[in-house]
Amino acid sequence: MEKLTSSLRIKAALDRMNIKTFKDVLYHLPRTYDSFEPTDLTSLEDKQKIVIVGKRIGPMNYVKRGRLTIINFLVNTAKGYFFRVVAFNRPYLMRFVNEKDTYTITGRYDAKRREINLSNIVKGEMEPSEYLKPIYSLTKDLKNFEFERLVKKAFKETGNTLYNNLPEYLNKKYRFISESEALRKIHFPKNEDDIYQGLRVLKYEESLMFSLQTQLIREQNKLLFKGEKTPIELKKVNDFVVDLPYKLTKSQLNGVREIILDMNKPSLMYRLLQGDVGSGKTVVAATALYANFLRGDQGAFLAPTDALARQHFENLQASFKNFPVKIELLVGNLTEKRKNEIKDAIVAGDIHLIVGTHALFSGDVFYNSLGLVVIDEQHRFGVNQRAALAAKGDHADLLLISATPIPRTLAMSVYGDLDVTTLDQFPGHKRDITTMIVNSSDETIAYSIKQALERGEQIFIIAPRIEEVEDNNLAAETLYQQYSMKYKGLVTLLHGRLEQEEKLRAFEKFKSGEKPILVATSVVEVGIDVPNASLMLIYAPTHFGLASLHQLRGRIGRKGQPSTCLLVGDDFDEIDEEKLNVLVNSNDGFYIAEKDLLLRGPGELSGVSQSGLPSFRYVNLISDFEMFKYARKDAEEIISDADNDDNRLIIEKAKILIERDGFVGV
Ligand code: ADP
Ligand code: MG
Repeated sequence: MEKLTSSLRIKAALDRMNIKTFKDVLYHLPRTYDSFEPTDLTSLEDKQKIVIVGKRIGPMNYVKRGRLTIINFLVNTAKGYFFRVVAFNRPYLMRFVNEKDTYTITGRYDAKRREINLSNIVKGEMEPSEYLKPIYSLTKDLKNFEFERLVKKAFKETGNTLYNNLPEYLNKKYRFISESEALRKIHFPKNEDDIYQGLRVLKYEESLMFSLQTQLIREQNKLLFKGEKTPIELKKVNDFVVDLPYKLTKSQLNGVREIILDMNKPSLMYRLLQGDVGSGKTVVAATALYANFLRGDQGAFLAPTDALARQHFENLQASFKNFPVKIELLVGNLTEKRKNEIKDAIVAGDIHLIVGTHALFSGDVFYNSLGLVVIDEQHRFGVNQRAALAAKGDHADLLLISATPIPRTLAMSVYGDLDVTTLDQFPGHKRDITTMIVNSSDETIAYSIKQALERGEQIFIIAPRIEEVEDNNLAAETLYQQYSMKYKGLVTLLHGRLEQEEKLRAFEKFKSGEKPILVATSVVEVGIDVPNASLMLIYAPTHFGLASLHQLRGRIGRKGQPSTCLLVGDDFDEIDEEKLNVLVNSNDGFYIAEKDLLLRGPGELSGVSQSGLPSFRYVNLISDFEMFKYARKDAEEIISDADNDDNRLIIEKAKILIERDGFVGV
């Protein structure tokens, strides 16, 4: 087989996109399509996208303003309409556009000036079958036309040897086209229907494989039994509940009941606890840990960072102060001696509840009788880490806490391998957060900071990155410098690359109010509890998913005090605004998560999902949900008829995926 490319630059770019084979090329689908279908010119609206076919008449005008070059020229369309076309920073057009040829031009229409702001220009007129041009998400140093060329080459090399994983009877039942044909239609569609027919196959296959995996894991889990356990009596658990400084909500009580019922079953618990920010998930987990203590077992509470572990530790200590539950904290920055003491006490069974980070499942930690593992912000732990801890307990129940709530109907499909408990009520005071979109020079920023400082309340400033790459306002370090200059002595910085000690010190200074402004990246301690904080500035918010933004903003207004969240940026486009407006208009985490899933672009590879929502390559869980449900049902039938030869094959494939990836879905 031929090499992918002989260009070192292209090879490096492909490597960065994790594209190594021709097959990888073919499965890197267009992000969207540009349409070259000529626009009906009789009724144009301001700012609409427009496609014209025509010839240049008159001169090419060239203007240079600082680093900006502006070219404009007049075009006469075949139908006799005239437009001025304006192009920014494309000096090569001076030579490209002559008066002889016909061009197809796309751009945005400015009605007032009867101008087209050019986005694309090609020589010639297109055939209807060429109207849809694929646009790929690529790294900067790879051009779209270069990738198109690669796709063509990939079809020559591998194109006809691709098959999907589906049993033949399903391909027939749904009238799916072959895998090669599907990919061809997606990369070179002749019309919209081609794209639909192609994607339909890939989406269904992805849904079916996903459902098979979750359901197979569930079947396996059902076969894992705990040893003899003392049944937990709800009545006794109630001692803990009535000792709390507040009354649990109905939803929390239901949650506790569901969890304890599970813990009393012979098979292991695999349960996800979800609810909006501030719905009080921690105390439900604490109650389960108390129940676990009652039956004589050890519990482990796992948090994603040292600071969060410490915070949970302090809260749990307070909750258990009237009970003989011995709690310890095991995190990275303890002395070796202290760590060893704690580890010894864990083996000996002298500690009932151990709170910590992934240090809890390093190879040299042995439990005496681990009965329940709680994992907070579960998506931040890799599947393998989770599996390692579960293996330590051997027979430990597992309670995962997810920070991103999704509607119940959706949860059933998405978390097919888990049981789900949903908290859908808010305890205590209602949050009062106003969210606004502002640009970086907006006076609202300084004004809001001044007000918060005067009231003695803390301020979060969030940036998507630690260091500057190229743009302004993306890096915590830059913002830290800017804000420290303006607010001398009041600002501190926190991000993942600081030493553990530095992080804790920065956080303590912020929490105590000594430094009331914290500049931080989002990966750091989103779950931290600073009840007095009432203002959050999020720079470059479009770098985060909606669900993550909602979680971030959940850090302010925790006491019910009026609070403000400012989404700061200077070049939001319409799509950005639509997305951000979801946050401006709603404080409902369930609704926001649903919108988040809906608005995600196809195949958006956001890396490790910050929110914990599953990310699919092709499927959009909201818009493809009907199909997803079919696939789920088919998966059930396949598993219940596993002896059928066709089914056996696809089940084997699903099992291989489970082995290889752990499980990606949750
Ligand atoms: P989250 O679900 O976001 O993790 P937490 O568990 O941190 O929320 O709870 C948020 C706050 O609400 C905590 O300060 C907690 O003590 C408090 N809280 C939890 N349950 C109740 C309740 N039933 N009544 C009053 N306050 C509660
Ligand atoms: Mg929490």
